[in-house]
Amino acid sequence: MPVRAGEFVEYFEAGIWTWLGLVTGSFVNVCIDRLPLQFADKEHRSSLLNSSETSLLLKKHIRDQSLTLINPARSFCFSCGHQLCWFENIPVLSYIISKGRCRICSSALGSRIFWTETIHGLCYGIFGWILQNWIWSLFVSINFSFFWILAYCRSYQHVRIKLYYAGGVLMALNFMGYFFIRG
Ligand SMILES: [Zn+2]
Repeated sequence: MPVRAGEFVEYFEAGIWTWLGLVTGSFVNVCIDRLPLQFADKEHRSSLLNSSETSLLLKKHIRDQSLTLINPARSFCFSCGHQLCWFENIPVLSYIISKGRCRICSSALGSRIFWTETIHGLCYGIFGWILQNWIWSLFVSINFSFFWILAYCRSYQHVRIKLYYAGGVLMALNFMGYFFIRG
């Protein structure tokens, strides 16, 4: 049976949302990895600096307090400091190809990397498919990713407080968006 033009657009849009979810999932992983280090308290910092499992690059960033969500721009292995190339940064696929390990030191990356990207891809695709409205899909997707980050970072008190503030701003945006869309 031939695919109607309208159906094709729906599939295409769901595909775009899935792709967006995979990319966002990758960024969410960066948030979960880096936020607890960026806002680490003295105790957490010194335990990382004294650990033999922390790479020299990560130790330098912790000492200088220079690790943020955007610095360094390229992701790196926390165990050996290896900076990831473009082909090691493809959501889901890179994880499967490398069998969830760093290409240089073979340390395990953790299944959370894989599941965060996969579930983001699936859920964003489903939101885009069901809601059929890019503004609604965008709001639902952003909220989904926010709560995903909160769930993983909730045990770090310094991060949790900052996320609560960010959550307050997000809630305000939700309300504004709701009335904007309805109006
Ligand atoms: Zn490594």
